[in-house]
Amino acid sequence: MKIIRNTGEMARLAEQRRMSGDFIGFVPTMGALHEGHLSLIRRCRGENDFAVVSIFVNPAQFGPKEDLKKYPRTLKQDIRLCRRERVDAVFCPDAKSMFPADYKTYVSVDDLGECFCGASRPGHFRGVATIVAKLFHIVNPHASYFGQKDAQQALVIKKMAEDLNMPAKIKVMPTIREMDGLAMSSRNRYLNAKERKEAAVLFASLTAAGQLIKKGETSPHKILGMMERMIRKAPHVKIDYVCAVDPINLKPLDKIKGACLIALAAWIGKTRLIDNIIVKK
Ligand code: AMP
Repeated sequence: MKIIRNTGEMARLAEQRRMSGDFIGFVPTMGALHEGHLSLIRRCRGENDFAVVSIFVNPAQFGPKEDLKKYPRTLKQDIRLCRRERVDAVFCPDAKSMFPADYKTYVSVDDLGECFCGASRPGHFRGVATIVAKLFHIVNPHASYFGQKDAQQALVIKKMAEDLNMPAKIKVMPTIREMDGLAMSSRNRYLNAKERKEAAVLFASLTAAGQLIKKGETSPHKILGMMERMIRKAPHVKIDYVCAVDPINLKPLDKIKGACLIALAAWIGKTRLIDNIIVKK
């Protein structure tokens, strides 16, 4: 497995492999790898000849008051895990080479990148779209793998790839969860024991919403109200948003008819977590 820090070297290696007829698969991550990431890596490994994982804590997607400094960095362990999964190349550039002091160019996706998490974290999806666009230019993958846990991110990336004629096929993989349903996240390690226990209410509320819909409830107002009441019972959890939206364009639904994305963001103490499910009637 190659460990590459240099942008030119990464681009050359991927291009060589592409020219020799190999399929290039790519998993962009911010490291602190867990089973959620590994599920994407395994899929990428299985479906491609040359599997690339990037590990880069992207400063452009953190707001000025967010957790960039304390974001977990576990590069040695991440490299070990990638090796175990038979990844071909780990690309871990440093921040200065990706965003030098005179950096000026950004990609933003209107509407999809501005609502929900985009509203709570202004500039977040601009940072995400920009880094993924840069990484796509360097690696030029045939396929790239993203998690459904970050549903809005996956939609933003799909739209960006479509609008900017990027050839990579965007594949979205299911959310991997802990035993109690909590979606795996690098940020879960910030939670203390009490918060960790209470965090299970997020998926429990999504599951309850799914059950209500399956029973025939079609009113988003009622479903979201039930979720809010359930989440409010956990004393350390503060809702950022809960929504029932169209899973493609993120427009809020008046009535639940076909497929529906139920998504939420909440603060558990000082940690902001997100989760979602797609319910099909
Ligand atoms: P991150 O390192 O948080 O930027 O995540 C890198 C990729 O892993 C993104 O596409 C995430 O959506 C995906 N991911 C993170 N957590 C999970 C999870 N629990 N299940 C599936 N995919 C995940």
